[in-house]
Amino acid sequence: MGLLVVGSVAIDSIETPFGSVKDALGGSAIYISVAASYFTAPVRLVAVVGGDFPREHIRFLESRDIDVDGLQIVREGKTFRWGGRYHYDLNMRDSLYTELNVFEKFNPVVPSAYKNSAYVCLGNIDPTLQRQVLGRLGKPRLVVGDTMNYWIEHKPKELAETIKLMDVLVVNESEARLLTQEPNLIKAAKQIIKTGPRIVIIKKGEHGAVLVTEQTIFSAPAYPLENINDPTGAGDAFAGGFIGWLARTDDLSAENLKRAVVYGSTLASFCVEKFSVDGMKDLTYLQIQDRYRSFMQLSRFDER
Ligand code: AMP
Repeated sequence: MGLLVVGSVAIDSIETPFGSVKDALGGSAIYISVAASYFTAPVRLVAVVGGDFPREHIRFLESRDIDVDGLQIVREGKTFRWGGRYHYDLNMRDSLYTELNVFEKFNPVVPSAYKNSAYVCLGNIDPTLQRQVLGRLGKPRLVVGDTMNYWIEHKPKELAETIKLMDVLVVNESEARLLTQEPNLIKAAKQIIKTGPRIVIIKKGEHGAVLVTEQTIFSAPAYPLENINDPTGAGDAFAGGFIGWLARTDDLSAENLKRAVVYGSTLASFCVEKFSVDGMKDLTYLQIQDRYRSFMQLSRFDER
């Protein structure tokens, strides 16, 4: 089997109304891999960092059974850096800076041991790079992909080519609308389905997530947390929990896809409780199961 994750590995500085962190571990591939590592092992990471990337972060990844053979270290380069500031409405954030650094010349090398990966998660990076990685693999059983406004606006053609190759596209509300020019999210999802993916998941922040296929719609709430400190990476933690569960169970039935959405929401809820990846550092399987069951209680009711 095996789950391969490609995306950004970053050093983030984040400010929210509830605190801040400087030079913390971040990046789409990190949030995805750490979330998925609670369900399947090893998670194979394909990404790049500079010589400034702290050894302690690599040790942390290894402690989560994340295989870093595909993590290139460019000694003379600097790691990708991102700074963000959140408003009181945590759905609103400003990117303070984006320094691509070693990502500018990234040529994703896929170690031969990774080529048979059955599950692939394309975290948010340049869609051309996402496609290159797919071209270097065999025939995966499931490809889940993410993107962001920046690529929708700046590389629409390349993104469309990459989306064609995805089985599942995970986007947030504003990305879905931007991608399709369609304000209604269900219509937007169905429009995306016509372009390639058979499943579209639209993340709606504190309002949960909706999974849309040609035949079905499944809506899951977000966990009603009282303490959200840092929403960074919530969408990636969702994708990691989602694909991690599917890789663990190797079951792509409609019912299991619903469970995967709830496991994705579960990991996202742990992620936002603390800054950086701290909320997902040392969870137990029992904690995850407890919260998963609370999700079931949230919207279960008797007919009469
Ligand atoms: P999210 O909150 O899901 O958008 O993910 C946040 C993570 O994405 C942060 O840890 C950033 O380091 C990373 N990030 C921000 N901008 C980009 C970008 N243009 N390309 C790749 N990763 C990015």
